[in-house]
Amino acid sequence: MTTPPDNREDRRATADQIGPQSSGQTGRQTQAIHGGEQPDPVSGASAPSLTMSSAYIAHQVEGFSAHNMSDDPNSHFYARWGNPNVAMLEAKIAGMEGSEACLCFASGMAAATGIFLTFLSAGDHCLISDVCYAGVAELARETLPRFGIEVSLVDLSDLDAVDAALRPNTKLIHAESPCNPILRLSDLSALAMRIHASGGLLSCDATFASPIGQDSRALGVDLVLHSITKYIGGHGDAMGGAVAGSKALIERMRMEATIHHGGVLSPFNAWLIARGAATLPLRMEAHQRGAMAVAQALEAHPAVTKVLYPGLASHPQHALAHTQMCNFSGMIAFQVSDAARGQAVAERMIERLSIIHYAVSLGHHRSLIFWMPTDALMDSSFHLQGRQLEAYRAFAGDGIFRLSVGLEDPEDLIADLEHALA
Ligand SMILES: *Cc1c(COP(=O)(O)O)cnc(C)c1O
Repeated sequence: MTTPPDNREDRRATADQIGPQSSGQTGRQTQAIHGGEQPDPVSGASAPSLTMSSAYIAHQVEGFSAHNMSDDPNSHFYARWGNPNVAMLEAKIAGMEGSEACLCFASGMAAATGIFLTFLSAGDHCLISDVCYAGVAELARETLPRFGIEVSLVDLSDLDAVDAALRPNTKLIHAESPCNPILRLSDLSALAMRIHASGGLLSCDATFASPIGQDSRALGVDLVLHSITKYIGGHGDAMGGAVAGSKALIERMRMEATIHHGGVLSPFNAWLIARGAATLPLRMEAHQRGAMAVAQALEAHPAVTKVLYPGLASHPQHALAHTQMCNFSGMIAFQVSDAARGQAVAERMIERLSIIHYAVSLGHHRSLIFWMPTDALMDSSFHLQGRQLEAYRAFAGDGIFRLSVGLEDPEDLIADLEHALA
């Protein structure tokens, strides 16, 4: 197995991300556990308390609009503006990303919408990965143009295509690396260089990589998006989204995208997701180890015609994965001979799998698998043609099984898959 190099810059968090008690800088595992947390000053509780209140006592006569909002992060007013549990999770994710700030949302989709509607206006142009989370692709194609935002869906792994698509009014490139569902990477430093040259922003959906798998900020990403429903929460029991970035960009988003658009994360979900996030660095190591074992077993299986995993030498962008990622994560895509066979295997999986759940979503401790036939996905979401369709098919063929390798014993997962592939 090729272990990814530790590509990260010094990501040790600063004291203000980890709570007032600590001084100096701390490592990633410490950050995941203590980031944003402090013992309860009233009760002395060591674990975070849950604060569900929607309104907070004002100690002076204040303005009613969010434009009068206090700069003190410990001063709360109304739960759509901020909440102690959400603030705790935001500090934790910012610490793990090595960024100044973070803003949480009710879902990954709310976070994506927040980026587009905060940083793009009528007359602006954006480049969005032509293969990305289906909901984001549909939002970009169907919704943004209704507001006068010009959208080009481009294969961002093809830098010539990117250069050809950039316009004087391009304000944002939205990448996803590795992308859902085909595990194709984008060269984030190269994209950052291009968009920064004209003063625009680079956002990247790093849900598949998690904050542990990729040092997005060091690669030049201005806005790092996560569906925290996935790896960061990690247990499949709470939805949420997050965007990490500089204080200036995140504060702009806080006013627009949460206070005005309103898709805020609930305190209970923040509390649950923060508990999951504490073990993220450990889980990512185990996801990578399990995924490598499963990917190698699939690659050796006679019924499997192609396996896509960034950690495998056979991945078309393995060299880029090696320089850009610091953990290859737990996501695998694989093909069988054709669409008819894929359909038959999917039906057998529903009947025969006893450990892996045949279900959407990913990044949980439970393994999940789902069949994604190329033609259906093109009709519903991606609508690719010509060279872009060929580029998709070079990865996905007639269709792929998207497998999120959980934390079970890898040999049990392999036996379960073999039972369905037989
Ligand atoms: C799931 C997912 C999303 C959307 O997140 P939700 O929390 O389901 O709204 C966005 N991007 C990627 C890569 C995802 O996997």
